Amino acid sequence: MALGTKIDQNLVPFISVGHMKKIISMVGIETILQELADCIEEDFKRWALFDKTPRVASHSKEGVVELMPTSDGDQYSFKYVNGHPKNYQRGLQTVTAFGALSDVSSGYPILLSEMTILTALRTAATSALMAKYLAPKGAQTMAMIGNGAQSEFQALGFKAIVGVTKIRLFDIDPMAMEKCAKNLLGWGFDIQCCNSAQEAVMGAEIITTATADKQNATILNDNMVGAGVHINAVGGDCPGKTELHKDILLRSDIFAEYLPQTRIEGEIQQLNDDYPVTEMWTIIQEGQGRPRDASRTTIFDSVGFAIEDFSALRYLKSLIDKSGQYQLLDMIADPQDPRDLFGMVLPQKRRSA
Ligand code: NAD
Repeated sequence: MALGTKIDQNLVPFISVGHMKKIISMVGIETILQELADCIEEDFKRWALFDKTPRVASHSKEGVVELMPTSDGDQYSFKYVNGHPKNYQRGLQTVTAFGALSDVSSGYPILLSEMTILTALRTAATSALMAKYLAPKGAQTMAMIGNGAQSEFQALGFKAIVGVTKIRLFDIDPMAMEKCAKNLLGWGFDIQCCNSAQEAVMGAEIITTATADKQNATILNDNMVGAGVHINAVGGDCPGKTELHKDILLRSDIFAEYLPQTRIEGEIQQLNDDYPVTEMWTIIQEGQGRPRDASRTTIFDSVGFAIEDFSALRYLKSLIDKSGQYQLLDMIADPQDPRDLFGMVLPQKRRSA
C-alpha cells in the first residue's frame, strides 16, 4: 500500500532504535551527520517561518523532562526529552528522547521516531555546523571534555564537517574516557587521553565540553582558554547547570540558538539579560564569508533547539522509503465515516445489525 492514501493515514511509520541502527549502518554515520547539518542549515535560513518558543520544562531534584515543539507552517514537530545527570549510576542514559512529525493541513502524525540516537546526531551536526562558521579555518585539533554518550557523535561530526583529525580526551571517569577512545579507534583520528581538562585543551583550536552535572560547574577556567579558540559548550543546558567560568564569557563572542531559551538554560544565564549574544540563524544567513578576528574567542552556547529536531525528523522522513526501515503503527482511530467514532467501539454484533 502506498503511503498517503486514506487507509494509510491511520498507519503511522515508526522508527525504532533497531531501525535507526540499520539506517546508520546503511547510510554511514558521517554522511548522516553531513546531511543533517545541511538540513539544519536550510531550516535556520528559513528562521522567520518557524513557530518559536522556549521548551517547556518540568524540573525535579534529579533532572528535567522537556517538550520541544515547532512548526514551519507545513509540518509540525515535537520532541520529548529528559536530562538526568545521575541516571548512569542506575545504568540509565542521561538523555533519552522520542518525537513526532505531523502534517499541519490535517493535523495527522506522519512519523514517530526514537530520538535518543537522533538527538546525539543532531546535536553533533549543529555543533559542527556552527564550528564551520566560527572555528579557526583549518582547525584540526579538538579537546573533548566529558566523554559520555554524546562524545563520539561530536567527534565524528567535527571530523565530517570541520575536518578535525586530532582528539584530546578528558573525563573525570577514566572508564568513560577509555570507552570513548576505544569507540573512536579506526575512524582516522589521532587520539590522546589526558589527565586533566587543562592538559586536554593544550594545543586545541576547538574545545568541546559535554559534561553532565546539575550544578554551576567550572569545567573551563579563564586561564585555561587561549585567545582565538572556539568553544563548543554542549553540557550547560538547564537552569543552574553550566560549564564555563563567567570570565570566559565576558571576553568572548557568544552565539546561541534561540535567545529566549538560551538565556534561561545556557552558559549566558550567568550574564545580564541584555548582554549581547548573536543568534545562530543570523550568521547562517550571512554566509561563510564572515571575517574571524584571530584574537577573539568564540563560544557556541548550545542548549538544543526545537528546529534542530524538526530538521532531524524531516531528514529521517526523507530516508524511510529508501531504507525501508520503519514499522507501521495502527495509531489513529479514523472510522470510514469520520463522525462515527463510536461505531468503531460498538460490539461487532451491533455494527452489522
Ligand atoms: P553522559 O552522562 O553520558 O556523559 C557525561 C560525561 O561527563 C560523563 O562521562 C561524566 O563522567 C563526565 N563529567 C562530569 N563532570 C565532569 C567534569 N567535571 N570533567 C570532565 N568530565 C565530567 O551525558 P551525555 O548524554 O554525553 O550528555 C552530556 C551533556 O550534554 C549533558 O549535560 C546533556 O544534558 C547535554 N546535552 C546537550 C545537548 C544540546 O543540544 N546542547 C544535547 C544532548 C545532551
